[in-house]
Amino acid sequence: MKIIVTGGAGFIGGNFVHYMLNKYTDYEIVCLDKLTYAGNMETLESVMNNPHFKFIKADITDREVVYKIFEAVKPNIIVNFAAESHVDRSIEDPAIFLQTNVMGTQVLLDACRKYGIDRYHQVSTDEVYGDLPLDRPDLFFTEETPIHTSSPYSASKASADLLVQAYYRTYGVPVTISRCSNNYGPYHFPEKLIPLMIANVLNDKSLPVYGTGENVRDWLYVEDHCSAIDLIIYKGRVGEIYNIGGHNERTNLEVVQTIIKELGKGEIKYVKDRAGHDRRYAIDPTKIHNDLGWLPTTKFDEGIKKTIQWYLDNKPWWEHIINGEYQEYQEYQEYQE
Ligand code: NAD
Repeated sequence: MKIIVTGGAGFIGGNFVHYMLNKYTDYEIVCLDKLTYAGNMETLESVMNNPHFKFIKADITDREVVYKIFEAVKPNIIVNFAAESHVDRSIEDPAIFLQTNVMGTQVLLDACRKYGIDRYHQVSTDEVYGDLPLDRPDLFFTEETPIHTSSPYSASKASADLLVQAYYRTYGVPVTISRCSNNYGPYHFPEKLIPLMIANVLNDKSLPVYGTGENVRDWLYVEDHCSAIDLIIYKGRVGEIYNIGGHNERTNLEVVQTIIKELGKGEIKYVKDRAGHDRRYAIDPTKIHNDLGWLPTTKFDEGIKKTIQWYLDNKPWWEHIINGEYQEYQEYQEYQE
């Protein structure tokens, strides 16, 4: 079994690479990553000598290179994590989000058509559904919830999902899509809420909270996301969308207060709200539970403790990012024939 994991030097893709190499010791995993600011070779350091793992620095929008990789690797499965993923950055500069998230997906789908694969899996997000009102805790996103995007990031992810579905319907490419809620856990880039707050507490910096901190997110421990994708690529029905979430809703303020409590210090600073800030995300994971038997195994209270401990134990990993040093590690060759 050969799996191409795009975006495997990022947060979730990196966790997925570790998860798959641990679980399936005879699989070949090829990571294809452009190493943008969010890609970090230190995340993959412990698997670089694994004979079943190969890293290729490549851009998914580079059609020629992607085709060469497909031709050389002959993958059975593609799992596409590669993306520009930060909402705030998409508000500042949407163009690269369309380029990577939409056009890059198209290149991968074309490569699947050209070379033939068993499964193309698109890692999408619950943000494609827009948001829910704060005063309706009875409402959840299902797979039938209409797409209703708020940010250039979510619009680009929704566009990619539509393209994936079109390639299934028009060309018969065997695809699946998953839409997951907010992830947290090891190797999370410290511009995102949880790792940013942990790093700031440890560096005696204040903790910036948007608006009043009432926005609600549905948190999932990253390993549970990996186990869900693992199930979908083998057992998920072709052409289907699966929501992934663990019923772990927390306001941003609650998350920050939990981190302060666990670390025993930290000072909140309220800052101007994000433009178009989604109010509440909440996933209904009934379909993946009923159809594939998936359930998350890590409760938020346990997962946040594990995450904080990981950041305490792996200070060099995130300090290199904050200090900009990790860029010096990115000396890998561009893809060569
Ligand atoms: P990330 O920003 O940590 O990692 C993205 C990776 O993609 C990086 O390694 C980067 O170098 C790589 N990349 C970017 N552009 C590329 C290109 N053109 N070619 C090749 N590689 C490229 O992102 P993440 O948080 O790990 O998210 C991974 C995927 O999961 C994304 O598609 C995101 O939309 C989705 N998702 C994320 C969350 C979350 O909570 N983080 C939740 C649901 C879905």
